[in-house]
Amino acid sequence: MNLSQLANDRILDQPVYEPGKPIEEVAREFGLHLDQICKLASNENPWGASELAKQAAIQALEKVHLYPDGSAHALTERLATLHSLNPSQFVLGNGSNEIIELLGHVFLEPGDELICGEFAFVVYKLVALLMGAKPVEVPMPGLAHDLNQMKSAITDRTKLVFLPSPNNPTGTANTEEEIFQFVRSLPEHVIFCFDEAYAEYLDSPPDLRPLIEEGRKVICLRTFSKIHGLAALRIGYGYSSPEMISLLQRARQPFNVNSVAQAAALGALQDSAWVTQCKKRNQDGLEQLAQGLQDLGIEYVPSHANFILSKPGNGRSLFLELQKQGIITRALGPLLSDYLRISVGTEEENIRLLTALEKACSVYGAKL
Ligand SMILES: *Cc1c(COP(=O)(O)O)cnc(C)c1O
Repeated sequence: MNLSQLANDRILDQPVYEPGKPIEEVAREFGLHLDQICKLASNENPWGASELAKQAAIQALEKVHLYPDGSAHALTERLATLHSLNPSQFVLGNGSNEIIELLGHVFLEPGDELICGEFAFVVYKLVALLMGAKPVEVPMPGLAHDLNQMKSAITDRTKLVFLPSPNNPTGTANTEEEIFQFVRSLPEHVIFCFDEAYAEYLDSPPDLRPLIEEGRKVICLRTFSKIHGLAALRIGYGYSSPEMISLLQRARQPFNVNSVAQAAALGALQDSAWVTQCKKRNQDGLEQLAQGLQDLGIEYVPSHANFILSKPGNGRSLFLELQKQGIITRALGPLLSDYLRISVGTEEENIRLLTALEKACSVYGAKL
């Protein structure tokens, strides 16, 4: 009997998440120097983290021989103040991805259904499959989440509905009004997870706290990986009702969020000026990319986040060709094979990308 035969039924069929290609890997494969390469593949903050966050992280290194505060007391208190909620309404995760998985552990039984959009962030589907649940992928006309269709997909087996807004990889967003209406129409056995990974890039992100307050089964997820520039440290959080949070706390590892990440997150929250500045720079970068794509005659989806979904045709080939020129972007699955997701970079990186894309398109005769 070989080892794989001992694995549970699901694991051999479990799709593997394909992350943004690391700079080191592209350097090795294409014989490039590390600092010739720019990564516009994972929606990271190209201006990095706030100095306050980095200083706090460095200071925390002095204590790395000690286990972290498993309850993340200081950070939780700070988040509670920031959101005007009670500390009992927060759970921290090793990235908000961990909280998506915790939701699976807590709520999904084999055979249950999880509803998500067909072009939504792929991790929801992966978690459903890992738990033996059924991902129900709802059509997204115009690449945006259609809440009416999501509503129609609900059955007696539906446990979780995921809505990322702005969505990755499409950059589309839903309005507060339609979300409120949708959530208030959900049956009692359905939990609504609102993934706010890109909320800070919106001028007025939907505020779902009134829904939590009135007892709806809602959880909101935030991350420090995007505008806060702390992707490497793996930290995110969820806020919801105390009852929801205490269930999720049972499913997590005791020290799931390390002390350097906790310290850096606290530092990041102190520096709201940095967040404001990065938001502004991102807005400029989005306009630069949109204009550049338009000049090249490449279609794109108007974005509310820190990346843009372009449609140059031949996504996979262009992804490869761009790497030869030291630029990492993101090709997508078979349903979006004509598309390329490009994260907003610095002004210089965006210029480099647009120049390289023009060249790459001419190599592949993509529609220009
Ligand atoms: C990047 C991203 C996250 C955050 O992931 P982390 O685990 O916090 O790094 C969550 N949801 C979506 C839709 C994202 O794009």
